Amino acid sequence: MTELYSSQNELLLPVVPIRDGIVFPATEMILTFGRARSVSAIEAAQTTGKKVIFLMQKNINVNDPVPSDLNTIGTLGEIIQMLKNEGEINALVRGLSKVEVTGFETVEPFFVGRGRVLADSPEDDDEVKALQNHIVGQLKRALKLGKTIDFLTFMNIMSNTSSLTLSYQCAAILDLKPRERQELLEFTSVKSRLSKEANYLSHEIKILEIEQNITTKTQEKFDKNIKEQVLRERMKTIEKELGEDDDDKEIKELRDKIRKAGMPDEVREKADKELSRLAKMSQYNPETSYVRTYLETLVELPWAIASPNNVHIKDAEKVLNEDHYGLGKIKERILEYLAVMKLRAEKKEEGKPAKGRSAPTILCFVGPPGVGKTSIGKSIARALGRKFVKMSLGGIRDEAEIRGHRRTYVGALPGRIIQGIKQAGTKNPVFMLDEIDKVGTDFRGDPSAALLEALDPEQNSLFSDHYLEVAFDLSDVFFITTCNILDTIPPALRDRLEVIRFPGYTEEEKFHIAVDFIFEKQRENHAIAKGAVSLSDGAVYELIRRYTREAGVRNLEREMSAVFRKIARKIAENESKKKKEYVIGKGDLPKYLGPYRFSSILAEKKDETGVATGLAWTEAGGEILFIEVALMPGKGSLTLTGQLGDVMKESAQAAMSYIRNKYRTFGLAENFFQKLEVHIHVPEGAVPKDGPSAGTAIATALVSALTKIPTKRAVAMTGEITLRGRILEIGGVKEKVIAAHRAGIKTVILPKSNKKDLEDIPKSVMRDLSFTFVDHMDDVLRVALLRPFIRGTHRRKS
Ligand code: ADP
Repeated sequence: MTELYSSQNELLLPVVPIRDGIVFPATEMILTFGRARSVSAIEAAQTTGKKVIFLMQKNINVNDPVPSDLNTIGTLGEIIQMLKNEGEINALVRGLSKVEVTGFETVEPFFVGRGRVLADSPEDDDEVKALQNHIVGQLKRALKLGKTIDFLTFMNIMSNTSSLTLSYQCAAILDLKPRERQELLEFTSVKSRLSKEANYLSHEIKILEIEQNITTKTQEKFDKNIKEQVLRERMKTIEKELGEDDDDKEIKELRDKIRKAGMPDEVREKADKELSRLAKMSQYNPETSYVRTYLETLVELPWAIASPNNVHIKDAEKVLNEDHYGLGKIKERILEYLAVMKLRAEKKEEGKPAKGRSAPTILCFVGPPGVGKTSIGKSIARALGRKFVKMSLGGIRDEAEIRGHRRTYVGALPGRIIQGIKQAGTKNPVFMLDEIDKVGTDFRGDPSAALLEALDPEQNSLFSDHYLEVAFDLSDVFFITTCNILDTIPPALRDRLEVIRFPGYTEEEKFHIAVDFIFEKQRENHAIAKGAVSLSDGAVYELIRRYTREAGVRNLEREMSAVFRKIARKIAENESKKKKEYVIGKGDLPKYLGPYRFSSILAEKKDETGVATGLAWTEAGGEILFIEVALMPGKGSLTLTGQLGDVMKESAQAAMSYIRNKYRTFGLAENFFQKLEVHIHVPEGAVPKDGPSAGTAIATALVSALTKIPTKRAVAMTGEITLRGRILEIGGVKEKVIAAHRAGIKTVILPKSNKKDLEDIPKSVMRDLSFTFVDHMDDVLRVALLRPFIRGTHRRKS
């Protein structure tokens, strides 16, 4: 091979492809060649005065490049030294000048390219000088910030080289992508190359600065940690030398608390184990805070703290009577329960626990809001001299709410039972679990099963909370559950409940509660002197009738409190300080409370057609309902509105079918229904209503609408109806009757089979009402309609 290195810069030389590097002119580097073509090209260079052309591949990943895979601008290079090693060649090469390859002579066994030397236009003006200085300065800075630059190259740069050489040497040491390097090589002007390099260099310096900043900070933190640890260790050693306990103060305190907590043995062991784990942990272990919280929870639980257990039934009776008006039967049941409890406890103390299952054993107060469930619970606690805690279970769907989350869970806490116990601070409080009918079940486990485990005296001496991991003995806790309705409580739990029903108060009872209890309580709450206010009896009744409509006395209490608030303000504003008594009569209430909230509905009603008064039982106690029927021309359809549940809708359909069946009796045409659209509506639509017990009232309203015979406004009824018109037994009689009485009803129609339920109804209510017991719809209509219909003739006439 002849070297063409002519004076016209014509070249014909072996071409060596390089994957991702450029040998810039005026720089040296060591390269390794492994590909067969490259090895032969380098070897061939021995005959060309060690000259070759280096071209960079356009794509680094191509293994066996063809000429079109190579850039056309590269470097004329010299092999200064080479070392063969197992088929590979390591060579020190030097870049001589920039070249352009214009064509290839052969490609086998290596590339031979034809090319020419390219010279950059020489520029040595002031701008280039300035750029040169700038770059040198920046390179020094980069070196200081930790950039690695080959020593020889650096010395070269420093030694005041020409701008061209500097531009190539700088290109070689910048941290660049292959494409960017090629671009730098290809610049035809030194100035452009230098200014591009200045840009790259500033960017590199910025990154170096950020890196250094981070490193410094990390280092500082690291140093601080080490320092602290060393100091801590040293402190421990000093304390040891001085003979002081090597535990830190916190561990000592916890150990003390554990000792005093009176824990059962297993719990104590567990606590000690956790404590020694804590003591061994490094301060920086994030687990320390969990372990510490856990231990604090453990020591705060009342393992051994109990209120004295002295039940005197007579005293308890006194307390219950002091706090509550009426509720005779309920108080009696509670006192019996307490008596049994006392006897059982005595037997247990004698070492002869009562035999047999004691089911059902968990008290459950059932009734609408505001009837005194909570307040009886508090009285029981007062009577027994125990602490009282209340937890609402409403809306709980997750077992973990009852039983706690496992400690591995972030932010884990004990369940509500253990939280309640902690809050009570004793292991035998009266623990009221509110709204057990509102506990739900879903995929996160069944809370009611966990609840049963907590409540059931047969299993609750070893109640396990997931968070605590050790058992807590709940057998001394006096659990009372409350709910508005029993239906939604899972059967397994319901079986264990000793149900005590709170049916709601009559007007008279409310009057006494208001006068004897609420009045005094509110007077004291508002810090008003005794005798400064008086409320006439008429005003109290007015409050009950016109400002509230409820089974309990919660709103009554609220309204009373509003009156006292207004009076308190008047007293405070009374500058003259002259003693004055505020007497509130019936007519004064609107001044304090605004217009009446409830009109006496019944008083305003006339005897109307297409309307009947039903009695319903809701979570809020008994209610009266007005059922309205409207008839319009149509095609035999039945529309029901007013938020009715499915059962109520079905019972409306049953009532309609009953009437269609007996059309003759009511004097209707056989196909009367075909031409009608019947609309049944139960007003106060926001309140959901359900159940079959409105059957008789719906049927009555329908018959009245169809026959045009008005119903008697003072008659209310309840009962399920069959297609044949038979009347079936229903529930909630007591609540319904009280509601009817409250609304001023005079006659109540009840299913015959419900006669037995009248026993518990207060005398004052029985006195004011008359009852008709029925087993067929015919009897209902006889009492409820204003006049009898004329059998089979009424319709034909009109
Ligand atoms: P519940 O728990 O059934 O919703 P509360 O116990 O909260 O009802 O009762 C509401 C208010 O009415 C309380 O202030 C309570 O003291 C009072 N109260 C209820 N029933 C009576 C009663 N028989 N005698 C005196 N106060 C009563």
